[in-house]
Amino acid sequence: MGRLLTSKYQKLAPYVPGEQPQDKKYIKLNTNESPYPPSEKTLDAVSRVQVSALNLYPDPDAKNLTKALAERYGVNTDEVFLSNGSDDILNFAFMAFCDESHPAVFAKITYGFYKVYAELHSVPYREIPMESDFSINPDLFKNQNCSIILANPNAQTGIALPLSQIEEIVKTNPDNLVLVDEAYVDFGGESAVELTKKYDNLLVVGTFSKSRSLAGARLGFAIANRELIGDLNRIKYSTNPYNINRLTMVAGVAAIEDDAYYMANAERIKETRDYTASELRKRGFEVTDSSANFILAGKGKIPAEKYYSLLKDNGVLVRYFGNGDLEDYVRISIGTREQMQTLIDITDKLFAEEN
Ligand SMILES: *Cc1c(COP(=O)(O)O)cnc(C)c1O
Repeated sequence: MGRLLTSKYQKLAPYVPGEQPQDKKYIKLNTNESPYPPSEKTLDAVSRVQVSALNLYPDPDAKNLTKALAERYGVNTDEVFLSNGSDDILNFAFMAFCDESHPAVFAKITYGFYKVYAELHSVPYREIPMESDFSINPDLFKNQNCSIILANPNAQTGIALPLSQIEEIVKTNPDNLVLVDEAYVDFGGESAVELTKKYDNLLVVGTFSKSRSLAGARLGFAIANRELIGDLNRIKYSTNPYNINRLTMVAGVAAIEDDAYYMANAERIKETRDYTASELRKRGFEVTDSSANFILAGKGKIPAEKYYSLLKDNGVLVRYFGNGDLEDYVRISIGTREQMQTLIDITDKLFAEEN
């Protein structure tokens, strides 16, 4: 820590992203990226002509992309917000809607960034305990009189809540924000976007990083009633109005125009997920019932930390979260069918060596 850092930030425990090692080529199943590249149309959109316009600032209102998203999700353009990755939107939401009188509430096992943002902005927070099977008990989120931050499907477990329960949570916290982080919704969750027309306290957050193969472009969006979107824009225009670059903007429009390609990939990933989960269960693992592009697997024949490091030695990267609630589990992103077969074959080899 440098000697000039203000005391406010000295206790900060920053988010630890999944490793991105450069030493060799791994089968990367540790950060929930898509194994499929962007579509041909998306690639072509990032043309030489677009690159040559990089001397000019991008459109801060992102009009083309906003329009494309509004059409895709059946909402008005003033009900759409865009930013540099959905992490950026989560950050803005904590800034805009959480404070001492609107403390944050989120699940004990969920996306690790929620806690980091709460601490960054000195927002008091409470973590709601999980059920023994790692599912969320939605009743514990009702009538909280707090800002609710909920990933659905949930991060790390992949378990989804039905839309009827999300609606109850939104309805019973009418004077607080309910943020539903739908990073994984295209892999089997029920989207709450329609409910934004009925409830002015609901903010649905999405990303192009998972189902739309654009993690490297950094593009996130939110859908909500126009007042909430206006509040997010207040923050964005008070920090960095140009936070989506030109190339990402054209890639994003092309990705929405090519929605069928990405949604077909999401279907392939769902099939591969269900295959992988059932193969791992056959081998004795406990695997959560995931509606996302990853599975949480644990309590297998080899302790989770050792399994993680043996897989890494064999060229397969998965995520191990260390001590805590998930110390007996690894999170495995779903790659192509061939990649998952490799994971299963290596697992068989490791198990055979254990005996
Ligand atoms: C991956 C992920 C994000 C971050 O998405 P970006 O758009 O890449 O910033 C947000 N929330 C959850 C639950 C995620 O898994």
